[in-house]
Amino acid sequence: MNLLEFEAKKLLQKYSIPIPKGVLVQDSSHTLIPPTVLKSQVPVGGRGKAGGVRIVTDPTLLPSTISDMLTLSIKGHLPLRLLSEELLSIKREFYLALLVDRSLGTIQLMAHSLGGVEVESNDQDSYVTIDLLTTSSDVAGEQLAECYKTPEQTFALQELVKKLLVCFKENDATLLEINPLILTTAGDLVAGDCKMELDDAAAFRHPDWKFEAAPAEVNFVTLDESGAVATIANGAGLGMATVDAVAEYGLRPANFLDIGGGANTESILAAFQKITTYPAVQVIVINIFAGITRCDEVADAIIAARKQIANLPPLAIRLSGTNFEEAVATLAESGVTTFSSLERCLKHARDIIHG
Ligand code: GDP
Ligand code: MN
Repeated sequence: MNLLEFEAKKLLQKYSIPIPKGVLVQDSSHTLIPPTVLKSQVPVGGRGKAGGVRIVTDPTLLPSTISDMLTLSIKGHLPLRLLSEELLSIKREFYLALLVDRSLGTIQLMAHSLGGVEVESNDQDSYVTIDLLTTSSDVAGEQLAECYKTPEQTFALQELVKKLLVCFKENDATLLEINPLILTTAGDLVAGDCKMELDDAAAFRHPDWKFEAAPAEVNFVTLDESGAVATIANGAGLGMATVDAVAEYGLRPANFLDIGGGANTESILAAFQKITTYPAVQVIVINIFAGITRCDEVADAIIAARKQIANLPPLAIRLSGTNFEEAVATLAESGVTTFSSLERCLKHARDIIHG
């Protein structure tokens, strides 16, 4: 399981590992005070180069930058939120990672004296690999200080290695990467970015694990990468019936998705986001028979998705059940029509595809 940056940083903070002060942003009406750095919360690296990390100093540019970033898809991932952090004054950037080395049966520490966005292309600078099962944190910290050429940071680096190792083990991590580890002009070491992978096989030991990466993956099956119709339904039975009905109508279903009984705005948004990564989808069929899931909540998610996702394909929606009247009214206000039978909904889908 891949954590988002803000989730990984929250874990670091729990172990008193310094992170920049930050707050999550979900829409452009947020009142932030620049200067700030805005960071797209997507589960992939290389955001800096893709426009996913932007520094804002002018308050008047803040709303437009936020809405631009919320609609900018990075390597096929659209952020549900941004992380707004205090702007750090950077003296140097380093690379630091802990990872499980399965062949050696150890936890390895890897460090590079040049961090930041260019780290992979730099091989002439000093790097070090340390086996943390046979090397004490104190010795590892000394070797790090040597690698980074920062002898005055030896103590801080020793403390950092200690905390990182506890964090790594207690959370059953397989990877914990800090890139960049920032040395500020004030002489502090701060985790500027964090990528963390947790071992799915250890989930039973962590009933508290509730990460955003998880929901979209659950109950989502790709059927046909070049299918023209994406489907969203609640309940496995209704999900399968929806896929069958789409096929029976002579259309190609791209996926099966059961958003489940406990679906909320976030998980529905994550589902839309996943669907927009399919290249050939021309219409999304949404078939909700609401019981525990409430139609009005689905409607709110649909409206949020239309705002946030710039290239959202047209929707064909059939809603019935709990709070159905509110949902239809809310959607109608935003110009979205709904159908009360799946038959009519599919006819609408076919009209969209075949004109
Ligand atoms: P990534 O490209 O997805 O790895 O995103 P990062 O979070 O690592 O950010 C990329 C780069 O943005 C960093 O290497 C920094 O150079 C720059 N950056 C991030 N936060 C700050 C900050 O607070 N101040 C300044 N000046 N630069 C920052
Ligand atoms: Mn980074």
